[in-house]
Amino acid sequence: MVTELLYMGNSYLKEFSANVVGSGKGYVVLDRTAFYPEGGGQPSDTGMLGGSRVSEVRKDGGEIRHYTDTPISGKVHGIIDWERRYAHMRMHSAQHLLSAIALDRYGAETAGNQIHADRSRIDFTLDKITGEMRTLLEDEFNRIVDERRPIKAYMTTRSEMLPTIDPRRRKLFERVPPSVTNVRVVEIEGIDRCPCAGTHVASTGEIGYIAIESVKSKGKGKTRLTFRLEKGNI
Ligand SMILES: [Zn+2]
Repeated sequence: MVTELLYMGNSYLKEFSANVVGSGKGYVVLDRTAFYPEGGGQPSDTGMLGGSRVSEVRKDGGEIRHYTDTPISGKVHGIIDWERRYAHMRMHSAQHLLSAIALDRYGAETAGNQIHADRSRIDFTLDKITGEMRTLLEDEFNRIVDERRPIKAYMTTRSEMLPTIDPRRRKLFERVPPSVTNVRVVEIEGIDRCPCAGTHVASTGEIGYIAIESVKSKGKGKTRLTFRLEKGNI
C-alpha cells in the first residue's frame, strides 16, 4: 500500500484523518499521512495518532511506519507536534539557502547535512571557511531573508528539469536514481532550485536570520559549518 504523502503538497498541514491499512511490531501504516518520515537530513515528525503518541516515523521496506506507544486501528486522527516541525521547516529552507550561497560564491558543494530544531550543520567541500567567508555567508543569507523571496515546491520530470538547470546544480539532480522520472523541486525564487522531498516554509522571511556558531575542519577538503536561527521575519 502506497501512503499518500500529504506534507508534499502542503507543508503547513497540522492535522489530518486517515485509515490504518497495515501494522507491525510497534508501528502502523496509513493510507495517507502528514507525518514526515526521517530523510534527507530532516528528522521525523512526532505527534499524536488516534490518541496514541507517535515517537518516530520511518520509511522502511517501501512503507511509511508510524511508531506508536499503544496499538491503534481503524479511522484515526493525526496531530503533528507543530513547534518541532515548523522549526525543521525553517531549518530545511535555511540549509537550501546557505548551500546555494556557498555554491554560488565559493563553488562549494554540500556533501552532507543534518537538521535539528535548535541547530543544524552542513558539510561543505571546502578546505576551510575563513572569518571573511563566514561574514559574507551570514550577510548574504540575512539579506535574502529580508527580501522575503517565495519558496515553492512542485513536481516536474527529470527531462524537463535538466536542460534548464545551472550546470553546477545538475549533479544534485543526477544523484536522483534514474528510475525516478518525476522529481519534486524546491525553488527559492531567483536563487535556487534543487530536488528535495522535505518540508519547507513559504518565504525566506519565515526562515529568520542565521547565526553561524562554528566552523570545523572534517579532514582534507571538507569543512563542517554549524548554525542556528533567530526569530523569523514574516
Ligand atoms: Zn532538501
